[in-house]
This record gives sequence, C-alpha cells and structure tokens, in this order.
Amino acid sequence: MDYLYLPPTFGTSWAMKAATKTPDKKQIQSAPKVGVVSLGCPKALVDSERIMTKLRSQGYELSGTYEGADVVIVNTCGFLESAQKESLDAIGEAISANGKVIVTGCMGAEPEKIRAIHPKVHTITGPHQYENVVNAVHEVVKPVHDPYVDLVPEAGLRLTPRHYAYLKISEGCNNRCTFCIIPKLRGDLVSRSTAHVLHEAANLVKAGVKELLVISQDTSAYGLDIKYAESVFKGRAVKAKFYDLAEALGEMGVWVRMHYVYPYPHVDGVIELMAAGKILPYLDIPFQHAAPNVLKNMKRPAMQAKTLDRIKAWRETCPDLVIRSSFIVGFPGETEEDFQFLLDWLQEAQLDRVGCFKYEPVDGATSEDLNLPEIPQAVKDERWERLMAVQQVISAKRLAAKIGRIIPCIIDEVDGEGGGNARSYGDAPEIDGSVYLRNVPKKYVQGDIVNVLIEDADEYDMYGVIKK
Ligand code: SF4
Repeated sequence: MDYLYLPPTFGTSWAMKAATKTPDKKQIQSAPKVGVVSLGCPKALVDSERIMTKLRSQGYELSGTYEGADVVIVNTCGFLESAQKESLDAIGEAISANGKVIVTGCMGAEPEKIRAIHPKVHTITGPHQYENVVNAVHEVVKPVHDPYVDLVPEAGLRLTPRHYAYLKISEGCNNRCTFCIIPKLRGDLVSRSTAHVLHEAANLVKAGVKELLVISQDTSAYGLDIKYAESVFKGRAVKAKFYDLAEALGEMGVWVRMHYVYPYPHVDGVIELMAAGKILPYLDIPFQHAAPNVLKNMKRPAMQAKTLDRIKAWRETCPDLVIRSSFIVGFPGETEEDFQFLLDWLQEAQLDRVGCFKYEPVDGATSEDLNLPEIPQAVKDERWERLMAVQQVISAKRLAAKIGRIIPCIIDEVDGEGGGNARSYGDAPEIDGSVYLRNVPKKYVQGDIVNVLIEDADEYDMYGVIKK
C-alpha cells in the first residue's frame, strides 16, 4: 500500500447512512445489527464493503453506533506503526463501548500482537478473509431466518458517495519493497478475472456511479499471475491485461481513474488511451524516491526505468496528463545528497500532486535488517518541510497554468446556496484538491460532469464557474 487513507469516522460513516435507509420498522426491530469501523487504504475499504454487502444480503442491519450494534467489526490497517496504533485504539474503543468485537484486515495477520493488548477480542481474521468474518458474525449473532436479499442493491453496499466507487482488480503484491509488509500480510498478486471486474464495474455504473477508481497494490502488474488469461464479458473475450482492462472500462461511459501504477514500459499504451479520451489522463504513481541508492535499498519495482524520460514522453503523447505521486523521506541511509537528488528530480519532473511520508520503522519490514543508519526524527521533519515547500511551488504553478481554461469537472457537493465543489479530471477524491464553484444552477446535482471555466487557483485547489 502506498497511501494511508482514513475514511469518515465511525459515528459519521456511510455505513451509518446506509443503515438509516431501511424502510420497514418491524424489520429494524428484529434484524441483528452489525457496526463496521473501516480503517486504512481504499483497498481495505473495498474489503469492508464486501463484508457489509454479504452481511446485508443475509438480513443483518448496519448500526451507526456501538451501542446499537450486536457485534462490531474493526477492519484494521497495518501499514505503519502509527496505523497499527490507530487500529489497536479503534479495537479498544469498540471493546469498551460494545464488548463483542471481530478484527479483520492487515493487522489481523498478526493476531498475537492484537491479543497481547486486547485479549477480549472475539475473533481475529487476516486480510480478505470475508467468509471467516461473516462466520464469526454468525457465531456472535445468528442471521435472521428470512434474508432480505431484495434490500441489497445489485452493486453491493458502498462506503463512498453514490457518484464514485473504488474498483479493486487484484489482491496482494509480487514486489518486495523493503519498507512494506503488505506482501507478508496479503500475499502475492492474485488478479480477478477481467469478466468479473467488468461485471462489477457495469453494475456500479448501472447503480449511478459516474467515476470508477481502479485500485490494487500494483495496478500495472494486473493479470501477471493468471498469465493474462482471457475471460468473456458481454460476448467478447478480454485479456487480463492492464491495457485491455483500461480499454474495456473506457467503454462504459464514465470517468475511469488509474491508481497505484508503476512506470513499466507497457504503461505507454495506456497513455494513448488517455490521449484518445477513453480514460482520464491521470496517473497515480507512487515513486517513493528518486535517488538510485535509496530506490535500490527500498527495492522499488521499475527502479531502473528512466522515469524522467518516460514522463516526458508521456506528456508528449498526452499533454493534459496529470501525475500524482507519493514519496518517503528519511529512509535509512538517505544522505543529504540523496535528498537533494530527490528535490532536483521533483523540479525536473514537475509532478502535479505529491504526498509525502516520513519513514517509520515497521515490525517485520526488511528495511530494518539492512543495517543502514537511521535518520534522526529532526532531520526527517526538516526534509519533509523542504520537500513540501518545493512541491507546493510546483503544484501552484501547474494549477495556475489552468486558469482561463475550460475543464470538465465532476460535482461532489451542491451547497444549496448557489455554490458547490467539484473535482477536475486531475483530482482524485480524498487525496487531491477540489474545484470550488461559485455558481451551481439548480438543475445540477452530485455526480454531474460539467465544463468549468477556471478563474483562480492556489497550491491545492482551483476556483471557477460552470459554463454551458
Ligand atoms: S509495491 Fe511495494 S509498497 Fe506497494 S504493496 Fe507492493 S511491496 Fe508494498
């Protein structure tokens, strides 16, 4: 995983909103209720959605409070020490407020760590063990006799707003980045069949989704484990290949946004799809660093690729391409020279959006066995500040270049007072900026894609007006 994603807190979660939609009072009183606390990245969020969908199809209600739930599922994140701490705190909170707690997700791969602090947890399962989670729920509170299958929308239950959805195309990862324990927790790459992914995408579109966010641990490696096997969707054989999947998704008539892509040579073909307007000209590539010896110590995939040349070529093919990335500063052994290399690289690469983490040692990560000198916290902090300062100037310049242009944007929110906020093709939800709209005529609603004249911009957001 390359991002920490923290969805809305338990009390205000989409799970709570879904729970309030049940129409029949009698059913509300009799159905067993489950609370879901979902932590971590969008991939974990998709796992929570699958568990919720399964339980809902068996007649369980979703509770927005600990007190109203018969059992609480905590889907944990184990990416960094801080994420593990947050997961352990969430488990503790659920135990004191409810008492019956089932833990799943990345941290569930280390049950002894959880039991040492919270011995009263009912069941612990590892990541994507949906069936085990559902069975554990059955043990605590049996499903109602007559499942309300018709209450489950065809697209399943989601934690995202109605107009966008994450589409997970694979689990696990074949890479072995030294700072990351995801492959240990989630195993090697397991790709879903293309037909399965496309079927889910089609159901989401049918349910009103206007933007599909393709996620996995390594999206560009899609299909490698199943030897790019073909599967049939709507009478047509489609290969389990990044390009073929992108092309098929691009035919669904909605925005398609690619996350967690690595700069492998075969990505070039997908840039052509972007230039042709089939999918959004947006790439989320977690570069993590640029200095060759840091990348080598990190064991990053495609580290030998000449990424600056590749970015240049991509922009020649698709001038509107927006690139977002994330970086880690303070990795063991990172010298001032390495860090300066990274800053110079950023100046050269002119990425549109950048997130930055300070390196944290994680139990089980092989970076800790490299015997490289640790970077003092004060140096990590200072490097983080310097990187963000450099990038803010670049991001501001790239957004300023859009002033005066008319750009398609998707409406996220209408404020009821004539304004609202949206995102351009270059802004992914949660991680990028917004486009603040000063006029939203009444006929427009959340999820509408409108042409916006960009009037102003700062280092994160843009400001504009809807044009007819
Ligand atoms: S690509 Fe690297 S950082 Fe991302 S999940 Fe795989 S091993 Fe972890």
